[in-house]
Amino acid sequence: MIIVIKPNTPREQVEQVMEEVQKLGYDPRPIFGTELTVIAAIGDERTHHTLTSLNAMPQVEKVIPVQKRHKLVSRETHPGDTVVNVDGVKVGGNNPFSLMAGPCSVESEEQLLSTARAVKAAGATILRGGAFKPRTSPYEFQGLGSEGLRLLSLAKKETGLKIITEVLSERHVEEVASHADILQIGARNAQNFQLLIECAKSGKPILLKRGLSQKIDEWLLGAEYLLAHGNGNVMFCERGIRTFETYTRNTLDLAAVAVAKKESHLPVIVDPSQGCGRADLVRAMCLGAVAMGCDGLLIEVHPHPAEALSDGQQQVDFAGFAQLVKELQPILSAMGRVA
Ligand code: PEP
Ligand code: MN
Repeated sequence: MIIVIKPNTPREQVEQVMEEVQKLGYDPRPIFGTELTVIAAIGDERTHHTLTSLNAMPQVEKVIPVQKRHKLVSRETHPGDTVVNVDGVKVGGNNPFSLMAGPCSVESEEQLLSTARAVKAAGATILRGGAFKPRTSPYEFQGLGSEGLRLLSLAKKETGLKIITEVLSERHVEEVASHADILQIGARNAQNFQLLIECAKSGKPILLKRGLSQKIDEWLLGAEYLLAHGNGNVMFCERGIRTFETYTRNTLDLAAVAVAKKESHLPVIVDPSQGCGRADLVRAMCLGAVAMGCDGLLIEVHPHPAEALSDGQQQVDFAGFAQLVKELQPILSAMGRVA
């Protein structure tokens, strides 16, 4: 941490700051310049006091952190790519690109099983489907809950696809974890830290969506919670953020994919469906996401999008999904990825 002192501060007032720094567990090293004095506070910013409270001292100009707060998530701590093992399907590193696909919501046995068969035939290895749905209005379809989980397990049994589904509440972690291979933490819960901790404790792989208006730094720290609570099997998922633009439902932030890959060793997945909210743009978003270096895609697929109980406007049908997977191949090879 660097503490910048206001110009023309008398020496004894600089020493007062140094005493405070010492009290807070750091070793203060002053550098008296001709115009500016700074104090380098030596110590681990992540385990000691943050020192930002020193901004309250009138002689302090500003306190500048120098260490990354997302210690465990950072590539500095772990230079190689982390590979997440999803019940035998490996995500990240040099493993085959991960295709996670399925309906926004699990609606019925027929809907889920037909989708599972179709996405498997097109190359997906992981089946998505919401059983507990986070809906903006209480009058919208809330998901089948426990029955939805049962159907996901049935689809896994029949097709061998691994299962990803959202956990909405701490109360559901155990139940969802008994059916799912990946716990999805949704955008609306991205900073529900108690939920994050409970999911971490389950030991299951976790896919952490980016919050609706979440800065990248906060997203990285969300994952830091999971790692700090003993679960290293974490994947990021960029799913678009709120901006002034309304042509698309969200603004898919592809720069965030490149940043997350650079800053962190964890796999990065992109959800183009929530990301743009329009089936006609999903293909373009997927191509761009692959070119940004993501490790997988989470795509909404429905047998009859026009009849879907949630997010019909952004779900692609079976033929659309199969075509999309085909079109991804040249970009995947250009990026050195195996499909
Ligand atoms: C979803 O995947 O259907 C979903 C609700 O995602 P998000 O949390 O990103 O909105
Ligand atoms: Mn959805």
